[in-house]
Amino acid sequence: MNDLRLPTSDFRPVYDITKFTMLDYPDELACIIWFSGCNMRCPYCYNPAIVSGKGYQSEADVFEFLESRRMKLDGVVLSGGEATLYPQLIEFCRKVKAMGFLIKLDTNGSKPKVIEQLLNENLIDYAAMDFKATKEKYEAVSKLKNGFDNFCESFDLLNSSNIKFEIRTTIHADLLNEADINEMATFLKEKGYQGTFYLQHFLETETNIGDLKNSELHFDTDKLTKEIPIELRNF
Ligand code: SF4
Repeated sequence: MNDLRLPTSDFRPVYDITKFTMLDYPDELACIIWFSGCNMRCPYCYNPAIVSGKGYQSEADVFEFLESRRMKLDGVVLSGGEATLYPQLIEFCRKVKAMGFLIKLDTNGSKPKVIEQLLNENLIDYAAMDFKATKEKYEAVSKLKNGFDNFCESFDLLNSSNIKFEIRTTIHADLLNEADINEMATFLKEKGYQGTFYLQHFLETETNIGDLKNSELHFDTDKLTKEIPIELRNF
């Protein structure tokens, strides 16, 4: 059977482009390229249309846009969906870097080999990676089988690189409790993670994949460990 994601001249890997953001690439003016398709199905995800894999913009569309933003934007955020699933991502990033843009990768960490190649070729300048859950709960939260080992491999690659790197976790009290977060913080500390552990609160929308509602349970941030810096977003 043909791989529907094999690139052709009219292949459309990108769901959408956010033309300008001051929030998604720290200290830089950037755009966001939303790659379609994801190998996870986190119940709190509010982008089912992107996750399902249908794209609307080709590489040619993206580069036409980027050409118009040379010298106006500093960086390009690769988001999704999961950008590392795009088979031509390395070549795509080579072209973006050749245009003079910084690149930030937002990733779920499931494709360490892609991350390794991006690092080896100095194709990314910043990475924000999801830490979905403890090893025991990783599959229940991400709906991806055997994903934890790949997350660990991606973590080790990014943590030992010299690029800016942050770890973040979405909190829904039905999925992760305070003890889980403290276990994850200990994991990060033992791995020598020097950054901040960002916790972002679940956002209830009409489109959450798991039809997830706000939890009846209380997530008590006073019970969180202080062994590494933890910063709360949207709590
Ligand atoms: S929240 Fe989960 S399902 Fe949604 S894009 Fe991110 S990794 Fe994929």
